[in-house]
Amino acid sequence: MSLQVHPNISSLVPYSPGKPLDELERELGISNAIKLASNENPLGPSPKAQAILAGGVATLHRYPDGGAHYLRRALAERWKVSADQVIVGNGSDEVISLLIKAFIAPGEEAVMADHTFVMYKLSVQGAHGVPVEVPLKDWRHDLSAMAKAVTDKTRLLFLCNPNNPTGTMVSTAEVDAFLASLPEHVIVVFDEAYYEYVRSAEYPDSLQYVKQQRPVVVLRTFSKIYGLAGLRVGYGITTPEIVDYVNRIRPPFNANSLAQLAALGALEDEGHVAKSRANNEFEMNILEQGLTKLGMVVIPSQANFIYFDTKREGRQVFDALLREGVIVRHIKGSMIRVTIGKPEENRRFLEVFDGVLARLV
Ligand SMILES: *Cc1c(COP(=O)(O)O)cnc(C)c1O
Repeated sequence: MSLQVHPNISSLVPYSPGKPLDELERELGISNAIKLASNENPLGPSPKAQAILAGGVATLHRYPDGGAHYLRRALAERWKVSADQVIVGNGSDEVISLLIKAFIAPGEEAVMADHTFVMYKLSVQGAHGVPVEVPLKDWRHDLSAMAKAVTDKTRLLFLCNPNNPTGTMVSTAEVDAFLASLPEHVIVVFDEAYYEYVRSAEYPDSLQYVKQQRPVVVLRTFSKIYGLAGLRVGYGITTPEIVDYVNRIRPPFNANSLAQLAALGALEDEGHVAKSRANNEFEMNILEQGLTKLGMVVIPSQANFIYFDTKREGRQVFDALLREGVIVRHIKGSMIRVTIGKPEENRRFLEVFDGVLARLV
């Protein structure tokens, strides 16, 4: 019997996760590989999150709190919204899929950039929706083109801000005008996974739009600056009405108990966040200057990674770095994305990269 698979599924390319670090080290016969590929916090998990985790181990025989009561309450207090405006997910990845599942029926559309976080397209297509991709302009979201791409069938519009992989941002003035131009049936999803790293004063306060009761969802995560990517916990803030619809299809125990506990600890650890932000800001400058000196064209970033043009076959650059134990991300063409690491990791990356470039020309 042959499987009957819909082309929406068979045409998808599985996400390529890369090898575990220790496996790569075994293969290369080295012990000091560095991973600057997934925009993780190089300083590690928040110590407050680590300390609080131990207390949750003895009750692992219990199902998690399906309402994520304490975490939602803490988030509501932090962001000055009510707890019924908060959805917690198994990473913000899950909140993205839940929004799609709740609002996109087969054949309905979601507008997104053509060069952005891959999960939007994957999840929309996986739900038999239609991803409508709008090219970036100067590496930034082209908001007027995105507004023009909206039709009667558009249900969601994804705005990754700052954008992954480019690190670029759209401003308050731009977003104000954009939202005013959209029809009311479109839910705008602001994916702010890198919110805590942004330095620009022009960065929109997207929660204001939620507080004005517009159909807007703001996504944040504990996977980036809070250093909890391995536990999988993220959240959305939106109107109670949108939360209510998502809750109808949300698996009841989607956020595990240790993730909820650790997130509570991390949220209070302002010291760790400040330290992580300071490392990022300082090291971002060093990497930007180092890469520019090596002749790279660097796109100014508001996040914890840099996207740059190697003007060479990116796959070859990626492979050559990998062979020396430096893992970055090749997305397409000549572009490479590198996560800001610890000072010694960034120095090593620049050194190895210098050598790689000399060999590849
Ligand atoms: C890393 C990232 C996320 C976070 O995903 P989690 O599922 O919360 O780990 C979401 N959106 C973007 C754009 C990201 O880069």
